Amino acid sequence: MNSNIRVLFIRLYAFFCFKKRSKVIFYHDIHSRNKYTEMSTSIDLFIEHIKHIKNCGYEIVPKVSKSYGQIEICFDDGFLGLYENFDAIKKYNIPIRIFMITSYIGKEKYLSQKQILELYNTGLVNISSHTHTHSKLTSLSDDEIEFELFESKKILENIIKQPIDAICFPLGLFNKQVIQLSSRFGYSMKYISIPGFINRSQDIINRSLVQFASINTFGAILKGGDHCLYFWYKLKHYSK
Ligand SMILES: [Zn+2]
Repeated sequence: MNSNIRVLFIRLYAFFCFKKRSKVIFYHDIHSRNKYTEMSTSIDLFIEHIKHIKNCGYEIVPKVSKSYGQIEICFDDGFLGLYENFDAIKKYNIPIRIFMITSYIGKEKYLSQKQILELYNTGLVNISSHTHTHSKLTSLSDDEIEFELFESKKILENIIKQPIDAICFPLGLFNKQVIQLSSRFGYSMKYISIPGFINRSQDIINRSLVQFASINTFGAILKGGDHCLYFWYKLKHYSK
């Protein structure tokens, strides 16, 4: 679907959403001088988003615990821009969650082990798994999926010395088997890339991608405007 048409749907649908329900939003990176991925959000747009969230009266939380009024912010892949622009995160005192691809740690453009630990020790950053190699889990055998889940958990637990209990799936792709194996390997929270409001008890956590959203579209997404595309996202990401 053309992205202009998607934006139009999101903004129209948002007119019918009024309650301030909790949501999880996600980005890939933020940049000022150095841009490490085409998926990166400019620091100015990111700050505009944060101000908008606060102006709307939401609380930005490390983990959604209420059905209303909370926003959780995630970053996928573990790019270096987050470290270089961390002053903004600190200035606005925003808790964030970073999903790490463990075989990329320390590679060019990605966070190193030391930087991950430094970010974690600020108390503002949750570290979670984005698998070991960022492969399409839905194309792998059970053994291969288990390796992705186990290896990344082990590496991250070794770095931060805390249990890793959250994962998000590479390219948003998952199926029933991926969910079951993730639960078996100790991931009580499974983050997906299909939009939806969050109830505090769910273990499969919907997320909305907002990395390029203009401020009007961003406002519409917070209200749940992107839920009108739920089935389109599900078709893209979920396989039987
Ligand atoms: Zn990813």
